[in-house]
Amino acid sequence: MNAVSLDDYRTVTPKGTVQFLRCLGERVRGRRFLHVNSTRYGGGVAEILNRLVPIMTDLGVDARWEVIKGDAAFFAVTKALHNALQGREELITKAMLNHYAEINRENARHLPLEGDLVLIHDPQPAPLINYRPAEGKWVWRCHIDLSHPQRQVWRHLRKYVAGYNAAVFSLPKFSQQIPIPQFLVYPSIDPLSDKNRELSTDEIDEMLARMDIPRDKPILLQVSRFDRFKDPVGVIKAYRLVKKHYDCHLILAGGTAQDDPEGQEVLAEVREEAGHDPDIHILELPPDAHLQINALQRAATIILQKSLREGFGLTVAEAMWKGKPVVGGASGGITVQVIDDVTGYTVNSIEGAAFRIRYLLNNPVLMARMGEAGREYVRREFLITRHVTDYLTILAFLTS
Ligand code: UDP
Repeated sequence: MNAVSLDDYRTVTPKGTVQFLRCLGERVRGRRFLHVNSTRYGGGVAEILNRLVPIMTDLGVDARWEVIKGDAAFFAVTKALHNALQGREELITKAMLNHYAEINRENARHLPLEGDLVLIHDPQPAPLINYRPAEGKWVWRCHIDLSHPQRQVWRHLRKYVAGYNAAVFSLPKFSQQIPIPQFLVYPSIDPLSDKNRELSTDEIDEMLARMDIPRDKPILLQVSRFDRFKDPVGVIKAYRLVKKHYDCHLILAGGTAQDDPEGQEVLAEVREEAGHDPDIHILELPPDAHLQINALQRAATIILQKSLREGFGLTVAEAMWKGKPVVGGASGGITVQVIDDVTGYTVNSIEGAAFRIRYLLNNPVLMARMGEAGREYVRREFLITRHVTDYLTILAFLTS
């Protein structure tokens, strides 16, 4: 896998982690583990699979990753489904649901779907279950915040989910009443990827200079797809409240994902809200801007993830790994990553976010302490080695 070998993880993971993984790998050696999702770039799922699949291969598992294809109408439907499942009112018609099913049927015709364990990520490819081969276990992996779904939409998806052998959720409160076993698996970050590896001061300086980011005052940063659930407009409003008392920069860095058609619209709203403030930097990044994001996170003073709904929020773990305090929306996976008053603060409003940001800016010692606590918490709970361990355990359990 790239230039990184499994043994390199010994330097960053808790003692015994790599040895345990190798033992587990022996147990499931040669088994076929297929992942299917709807985008190879952009968003947390692609971010994880890009690193998880090579590690599984390194461990002797026959790991593969397939991506379903669809037209613009399909991704408009799946984005509406995603929004509705995360609790936003969306009108989803029968024709839209038929198109959703039809595109999955077409994908099933050409995708090689054989595997001892097939992990289907999120709602987009969920209907593939109707075309499962005779052999192999199928598991639906849900990465989204299912705590308050639009009921009718969930009832529709549930018909597909009930056909799986098991489901995996990121948080206990996302689990649903379904007639199949459910597992809890936290997502993770890769400490050795370009997104998260150590960078020298020179590298950070050079990258920030290239992006035209001045270093003359504290930097508040949110890295996210331009998506309303990530509340970028709320972030700008919070920054404005902070700015009355504390001079700082705000960076909103993001791109769009292949399977997210709303990005441009939200970006336009963000630009309008930002106006001509020279201290607000809106960066549209390409999908492979991992080193740039790494450098921005390392240069930031406080990292924000003010999501109103969040499946997990990998950006929070990324920030904590870099020793930064996080002010995050009290939603989904942010609540298990940010330990209030220890690794950062969870907030419920624009005013709350502004209050906590000001409090932190006034307490540099506290920021450093929170950063250290955050890094150790991520080391224990949210590194990719733990994630691979969880998936291989499910593989061993379901296919032994
Ligand atoms: N990300 C990125 N470029 C962007 C925006 C986000 O590489 O322009 C990355 C970010 O660093 C994180 C992932 O995409 O690793 C987003 O995952 P998260 O769970 O935070 O949110 P999602 O997009 O899956 O809702």
